[in-house]
Amino acid sequence: MKLLEGKNVIITGASRGIGMGIAEVFAEHGANVAFTYSSSEAPALQLEKKLIGKGVKAKTYKSNAASFSESETLVAKVLEDFGGIDVLINNAGITKDNLLMRMAEEDFDKVMEINLKSVFNMTKAVQRTFLKQRKGSIINMSSIVGVKGNAGQANYAASKAGMIGFTKSVALELGSRNIRCNAIAPGFIETEMTAKLDEKVVAEWRAAIPLKRGGLPEDIANACLFFASDLSAYITGQVLNVDGGMLT
Ligand code: NAP
Repeated sequence: MKLLEGKNVIITGASRGIGMGIAEVFAEHGANVAFTYSSSEAPALQLEKKLIGKGVKAKTYKSNAASFSESETLVAKVLEDFGGIDVLINNAGITKDNLLMRMAEEDFDKVMEINLKSVFNMTKAVQRTFLKQRKGSIINMSSIVGVKGNAGQANYAASKAGMIGFTKSVALELGSRNIRCNAIAPGFIETEMTAKLDEKVVAEWRAAIPLKRGGLPEDIANACLFFASDLSAYITGQVLNVDGGMLT
């Protein structure tokens, strides 16, 4: 059964990793996919081709999620190209890890801008469309680190915790218009973001996972599929941990 037949979706940061996994699973479920990148043009164009090959409409856009004006322009272009938007996935994110003692001000600001302000930018940009159609699903890619904290990631954890507060507030504000807003909190997912981590740190993370494996982008994509589709029509303001049981 295809759960998103004919739905139009925007995903930020889908040139690799979790975003790419979501784009592929959504296309397999019949969704038309608009997705962004900030610098990785070649893999983005490759993914665009792959998605079109699955029989859906797909287009990639270079757009910095941290920029309010670029987010507005992006949404206007997607509306023109796709004729509507049903689902927004705020997935773009970065890390700039360091102990607080060594964390530079610009590394704090950058992470907050790309991870958190981007969510404000994109949600504002799609809001009018969702209000007009009295329907929409917003999915924010938080992290279990935003729930429990993590040494060496004060900036990242703060941005991901901020996304949870934003998610719950938007769910309260827009619920009466049938606009849902939920967050996903991935645990340790095997992507380029986690490939940068020290082997020792990775071994410690793995040992702490009850299901005894790192997550795959598809594991997160399947949770997104649930929140994007009508299977979750009565669910809003929630944070779903997709972490192999790590936070249990
Ligand atoms: P990733 O492999 O590093 O991919 C990040 C994606 O975001 C790339 O497509 C990148 O595109 C894009 N991006 C970065 N800055 C951007 C910007 N300013 N504007 C638009 N796009 C931008 O990361 P990932 O592991 O897939 O993570 C995806 C999301 O899941 C992030 O929000 C991350 O915090 C969250 N998460 C990941 C894990 C994990 O274990 N991997 C765990 C919890 C949460 P360019 O290359 O073009 O910049």
